[in-house]
Amino acid sequence: MSKPTTLTDKLAKARVPSHPHVADRAKRGLMAFVTSTGASAEVVQQLADGSAAQGIGRIGLSALTPGGLACQRGCAFCCILSGEDGGTITEAEAVALYDALAPLAGAADGRDWHPDACPSLDPDTRTCRAYDARPMICRAYVSTDVEACKRVAEGEPADGPGTLEPYHTYLAAIGLSRAALKGTKRVATYALSRLAAAAVEGETRDAALNKARHAPSELDAELRRSKRDLSRAT
Ligand code: SF4
Ligand code: SF4
Repeated sequence: MSKPTTLTDKLAKARVPSHPHVADRAKRGLMAFVTSTGASAEVVQQLADGSAAQGIGRIGLSALTPGGLACQRGCAFCCILSGEDGGTITEAEAVALYDALAPLAGAADGRDWHPDACPSLDPDTRTCRAYDARPMICRAYVSTDVEACKRVAEGEPADGPGTLEPYHTYLAAIGLSRAALKGTKRVATYALSRLAAAAVEGETRDAALNKARHAPSELDAELRRSKRDLSRAT
């Protein structure tokens, strides 16, 4: 079999350990992005830094009008993050979050409210101090039951909170971008908690990115968790 040569060939042949329905949607989104804009260096960069995946996820979110949500401003149990990872974000999201938080270095942060809260959180108002730069995982995480969110934040399983499908499509798009650019360009992911902590602790942007960068295996692990969650839901 001949090796794929063009970016669209590489994307067409790319595989990702995700739910097939979601992987297919992500691939169609990436193919549309590349064919409509052309395989320029800028397009390659947008695949590499996750901007393309982020765009696909946000378009998916904008098309949804989920009903019955309990979410409201100042309700922040979902910003209490488990472990020091806090969730998977792209390089473009990591840079945007860093730039939003760096000017706030040294101020009280979410951890002054709860030790495991996201450092982006305002401890008094419990609102996100980087709202416009919040990553896809924050935009897609919703709940029908705030008490369930509270229990999840305390480490107990509960029905109600979860991530909307566009988050899973975004993840698959990152994985497909990585597969298509293999050997030519790094497609890295980052830990939300570590990035935000480094930004508010006054680290330089490069140091924050280095501290927060995931091992490559973390994206595959997150994709497998996504596939498992979607399989349970269907
Ligand atoms: S996900 Fe839960 S904790 Fe977060 S805003 Fe919605 S109801 Fe509140
Ligand atoms: S970035 Fe903002 S919305 Fe996301 S977990 Fe942190 S405080 Fe919450």
